[in-house]
Amino acid sequence: MKHAIVIGSGAGGATMAKELQGRFDVTVLEAGDGFRPFPLGLPAIELAKKAGLLLDERLISLSFPTMRVRKAPGMVLVNGIGLGGTTTMSTGNALRVDQGLQAIGINLDAEFEEVFREIPVTTAHQKRWHRHTRRLFEVCRGLGLDPQPMPKMGEYEKCTSCGRCVLGCRHGAKWDSRQFLHIAHNRGARLITRCRAERVVIENGRARGVIARHGCRRQFYRADLVVVAAGGLGTPLILQSSGIPCRPRLFVDPVLCLATRWPDALQCREIEMPFAVQRDHFILSPYFDYLSFLFNKAWSYPARDTLGIMIKLADSSVGSISQRGVRKTLTALDRQRLSGAVEAAREILRRFGAGEQDVVLGTLNAGHPGGMLPLTEREAASLHHERLPDNLYIADATLFPESLGNPPILTIVALAKRISKLIA
Ligand SMILES: Cc1cc2nc3c(=O)[nH]c(=O)nc-3n(C[C@H](O)[C@H](O)[C@H](O)COP(=O)(O)OP(=O)(O)OC[C@H]3O[C@@H](n4cnc5c(N)ncnc54)[C@H](O)[C@@H]3O)c2cc1C
Ligand code: SF4
Repeated sequence: MKHAIVIGSGAGGATMAKELQGRFDVTVLEAGDGFRPFPLGLPAIELAKKAGLLLDERLISLSFPTMRVRKAPGMVLVNGIGLGGTTTMSTGNALRVDQGLQAIGINLDAEFEEVFREIPVTTAHQKRWHRHTRRLFEVCRGLGLDPQPMPKMGEYEKCTSCGRCVLGCRHGAKWDSRQFLHIAHNRGARLITRCRAERVVIENGRARGVIARHGCRRQFYRADLVVVAAGGLGTPLILQSSGIPCRPRLFVDPVLCLATRWPDALQCREIEMPFAVQRDHFILSPYFDYLSFLFNKAWSYPARDTLGIMIKLADSSVGSISQRGVRKTLTALDRQRLSGAVEAAREILRRFGAGEQDVVLGTLNAGHPGGMLPLTEREAASLHHERLPDNLYIADATLFPESLGNPPILTIVALAKRISKLIA
């Protein structure tokens, strides 16, 4: 049987492994290790915070190796390393957001149907919302913002509303891409962890395999087909090291949270992002922002008394990543849109009853990177970028023509499914 190498085990990589195994003999190369949730509880976190030990966001990987933090000027970039990739840190939001792909002629209806058959999606968590969440929802309604309960992927009857979705679900409620990896593995796929792909070897216009590093040892993996699904930051690095230039069109969906002090808000014990308000170029959603809570000095209220709103912005496609680091700053238009969003979030908190002086801003961060080798109408049928050899594919948000400003997992899974059919 022909051999396929899939690089990365997140939303895109796990889907490709599951769909291709059987038609190919698949090996998944994953840079990180198995997933373990963040081990510390809130009391320990609050103690570490009081002791002034939490100085830099990058320190989090010492106790939570899955979370990789990079810094760009004025912004913190977060992604997941290890089996399941960033899906293990997701808040389980399950939206179809393929308008940008439809605009260039890509219709993923059939694949979304399959996705919704394979991944349970529900809004049943609404029945368990705490009273402050319900009141925030009513405030948004009263403002005419049309809030909608967030569809979540997984088995939410197991959800305990522990509020730790981004730190890893300990209750098996939230879906992540390890479930697809498990299926791929049962069908015979090999999963190799702690194996960082450095570059694809290309000879005479064909991908011959992948050079990867295990610790200080390098190994060549021969392949008839190579799929790069190392995420919106990982994939461009591998392509560029393989001699395939990418475009400086990185988007990241910046997130900024506002919070107020509210006695016994208990948002830290609520499912994250229970509902969302969709606006042009941004969404708003209740959110306990662990990153700001841990590392932002302005974020000083006790966890149980902190009530926050997240802004997630659809940013301009301007930026890049290379071995030297990430270049990403907000454009003037992004800043203008962000300040409109901050005003909308402030208004929600004001109506809720928060005092103007109590509202604090969190750390600008981002975790939905993509766009550095975007598909165009020319590739709408093949989903294969013209810069790639015939037997080398990409299967992640690197291919998205523009930022979604919304949770991308299901759209990446649907796109990967289509790519796997085209390969077959
Ligand atoms: C805190 C947070 C919450 C989120 N919540 C949601 C949500 O609720 N819903 C939603 O739809 N989206 C959410 N997202 C975004 C979503 O998780 C990602 O967009 C999605 O997982 C991307 O899928 P991917 O396969 O492209 O990349 P990833 O899931 O990031 O997987 C890439 C994999 O490639 C591996 N890798 C990277 N480089 C190499 C290399 N050189 N060699 C081998 N392996 C490599 C990585 O270790 C990783 O496992 C969230 C993101 C964050 C940060
Ligand atoms: S709130 Fe807790 S139990 Fe529920 S999905 Fe999130 S992490 Fe899992």
